[in-house]
Amino acid sequence: MSQPRYSSYIAGQWLAGAGDHADENPADLDRPVGHYGVLDAAATAQAVDAAAAAFPAWSLSSPQQRAEILDLVGSEILARKEELGRLLAREEGKTLAESIGEAARAGQIFKFFAGEALRIPGEKLASTRPGVEVEITREPVGVVGIIAPWNFPLAIPAWKIAPALAFGNTVVFKPAEIVPGCAWALAEILSRAGLPEGVFNMVLGSGRTVGHALACHPKLDALSFTGSVPTGRALLRQAAERALKVQMEMGGKNPLVVLADAELDKAVECAVNGAFFSTGQRCTASSRLIVEAPVYEAFVARMQARLAMLQVGDPLDPQVHIGPVASAAQLDTDLGYIQAGHEDGAELLAGGGRVERPTRGHFLAPTLFAAQPGHRIAREEIFGPVAAVLRADDYEHALALANGTEFGLCAGICTTSLRHASHFRRHAQAGMVMVNLPTAGVDPHVPFGGRKASSYGPREQGRYAVEFYTTVKTGYTLA
Ligand code: NAD
Repeated sequence: MSQPRYSSYIAGQWLAGAGDHADENPADLDRPVGHYGVLDAAATAQAVDAAAAAFPAWSLSSPQQRAEILDLVGSEILARKEELGRLLAREEGKTLAESIGEAARAGQIFKFFAGEALRIPGEKLASTRPGVEVEITREPVGVVGIIAPWNFPLAIPAWKIAPALAFGNTVVFKPAEIVPGCAWALAEILSRAGLPEGVFNMVLGSGRTVGHALACHPKLDALSFTGSVPTGRALLRQAAERALKVQMEMGGKNPLVVLADAELDKAVECAVNGAFFSTGQRCTASSRLIVEAPVYEAFVARMQARLAMLQVGDPLDPQVHIGPVASAAQLDTDLGYIQAGHEDGAELLAGGGRVERPTRGHFLAPTLFAAQPGHRIAREEIFGPVAAVLRADDYEHALALANGTEFGLCAGICTTSLRHASHFRRHAQAGMVMVNLPTAGVDPHVPFGGRKASSYGPREQGRYAVEFYTTVKTGYTLA
């Protein structure tokens, strides 16, 4: 069977782009998922021009029309979740079950925002002046640039594209380089949903060329970015030059605290899921496991036993728990951090290297170190199946360790103490807090985002998405 060739979508037309780049399957490097061509800066600029041209009419389109289109997109994604999940698993490497779950979530997000299109909030207040009425309404922002990472190639684009369109914005979506297939599949569904030409555009290519051209285009009105801290901060500096509206979701180094009174088996499951599922490639991954001294040894022993049971391999194999690392570059980063763990004097408790499988792929054993807070593996985001266990003297020490990071996306605690759970929920310096749950795994209808170096700007998802994707107008009328 011939392999698909993924193209970009601008002003209602498919554009092949240049070159014939392999869309790699990280579990089987000898069998690429497909091929794709990349755009240059000039074609990217055309996409922004098309979105700008489409904006005036779309911004005044009926919410009912927008709701119906988004609902249609959501229904199709849900109906095809197995097929889309399979593409995702082959392209990004998370297991088929995780991939189908992500596809379903993308569908649910489109359906949620179909409803939100019909619930655009406003307010009417009495003025301080007699006879004057004050009306506060929300209007779309304009042309929204969406720059996405590779680790949730359907769900993250969905939670940016759906609210952007729901509230009457036009979109230029730039996916990460290594997931053109998922981006193309999403664009293909959107291309048949009844959107006027230019309302939605998708541009394939590198961050340096296509991403840069998108972010710097003078007709861009807002930029929603998810990715690493260095890229996010560089984009933020550029955006500041022209006071561009931005929303940035960046890295994490999320702590999971395990107190001595926790149900230990449940805590181990939270840690295994949070640290290693989806190959640890989640911004909400629990990469720091902070364990109170009385249960430290028992926790480590159970983690070692549990990790020995995990199967690493082909994500399409139902027996496999952990798929490959998504790319050669990410594998190099992960192996570099394993090396750094050894150099800093951390004690290897499990894993520690690549594993061989029948196919050529980026397979890495789930790796656990006993570390000190100052070690690089305990401070820097790794974004792979590599976690650090830290010993805490007591709850206060555990909380201090949990907060002792530049990041602040998600923080978790396993405890049966209501007092400690409530205190942690209030005092964890993070945008999201989990009690007796893995740090990764969030609902699609409530706000998502962090604090400190993890996030900048308004929250994503749920009703809070309206903050970024609309601008407020205050109208005064004397009747
Ligand atoms: P990345 O920063 O390398 O790339 C993200 C996107 O930015 C890609 O589409 C890339 O092409 C683009 N890009 C790169 N350079 C650019 C430039 N100069 N101008 C414009 N665009 C540019 O991140 P990644 O490796 O794709 O994703 C992993 C990172 O994403 C991790 O740090 C992870 O924590 C983070 N992430 C955060 C969240 C969150 O919500 N907080 C969610 C998922 C992933």
